[in-house]
Amino acid sequence: MKKQTKAIRIQAEKSQNREHSVPLYLTSSFAFESAEQGKALFEETEEGNIYSRFSNPNVTEFVDKVCMLENAEDGIATGTGMAAVFASMAALLKSGDHLVACRALFGSAHQIITQILSKWGITHTYVDATATEAEWEAAMQPNTRMVYLETPSNPGLELVDLEMMGRLKQKYGFILNVDNCFATPILQTPIDFGADLSVHSATKYMDGQGRVLGGIVVGSKELIQPIRFFARHTGPSLSPFNAWILSKSLETLELRMERHCRNALQLAEALDTHTDVERVLYPFLPSHPQYDLAKRQMSAGGAIVTIELDGGFERVKAFFDALTIPTLSSNLGDSRTIVTNPNTTTHAKLKPEEKAALGITPGLIRISVGLEAIDDLINDFTQAVEKSAEVVKEKVV
Ligand SMILES: *Cc1c(COP(=O)(O)O)cnc(C)c1O
Repeated sequence: MKKQTKAIRIQAEKSQNREHSVPLYLTSSFAFESAEQGKALFEETEEGNIYSRFSNPNVTEFVDKVCMLENAEDGIATGTGMAAVFASMAALLKSGDHLVACRALFGSAHQIITQILSKWGITHTYVDATATEAEWEAAMQPNTRMVYLETPSNPGLELVDLEMMGRLKQKYGFILNVDNCFATPILQTPIDFGADLSVHSATKYMDGQGRVLGGIVVGSKELIQPIRFFARHTGPSLSPFNAWILSKSLETLELRMERHCRNALQLAEALDTHTDVERVLYPFLPSHPQYDLAKRQMSAGGAIVTIELDGGFERVKAFFDALTIPTLSSNLGDSRTIVTNPNTTTHAKLKPEEKAALGITPGLIRISVGLEAIDDLINDFTQAVEKSAEVVKEKVV
């Protein structure tokens, strides 16, 4: 069966009520039918739920679906994407280990690496996402235990060559850990390129409607086992309610991603030809510096389009004022189109040289393209581009 069929048909076992839609197992614990059963469950000679910090039917259903989509053996769901990122690192790294990561990281991942892991004697080296194989190799140390990547990156949409990283993993034996949030398993499956782990903020496209927080890490049984131990005892568990929402949302993930990506490509093409737009970045635009790589490792370009407008923050303000459909928010991966100015919001705290390394300029705008009718989006963005260009020109005169 195709993945789309399985994403709809994988389901927690029916109760005696023969419900069609999976019920919400909003329960903190599970009862034992006998003293023997309690003993067997704790001895793990019998499989079953004990306590929702360890497992829960709604959470298991969500994990089973993501494992299926990612071609992974096993997984652990968490309350947020950051809990998944942190668990994948904290469970597998120890004092004295070295981590290599791409420079363009989600802000909180950067904070974990530089402010938290560093307290425990775990060192790191950052490498540009677009670095050559030799540059990645130069970052390797005898104690390099993990390589952590985001591809495509936020907000610069730089890609890391997953096939190359899979090759380097064979040579150096590190754990290859990929944040696959931007691509989703619909567009890219890192495990097929040799990644050991794929982590997600399920808050984004997996939910897709901006309702709940969630996270997940999937990978080989061998690596998930210590992460499960870590999660079971430190408690970053996903709530059954959120798991129920997320599992339902996975039924429509492929359908939504198709529309998200089609809208994003059409909007990127429309803005790319507009003389009042300085630059348009989108992995599936032939003008993207890594277009060929994008075509090799992703089945579509994703739903983030990054544009640059001339005229600094004044232009950004005028542009945002003129837009009528999108929401101004720092979130992404919603059915509703969202715009952000990374320089003054998500990346505001970076030092000027860090911003320069990531290409964060004052006029940069990240567009999380939603599911609205594409004609409405193109019309709205076009009029706002033109209106804001006029406003800035008038101020200069
Ligand atoms: C949002 C996001 C995260 C963090 O996820 P939360 O669910 O907000 O904790 C991690 N990585 C990427 C790429 C993200 O976009």
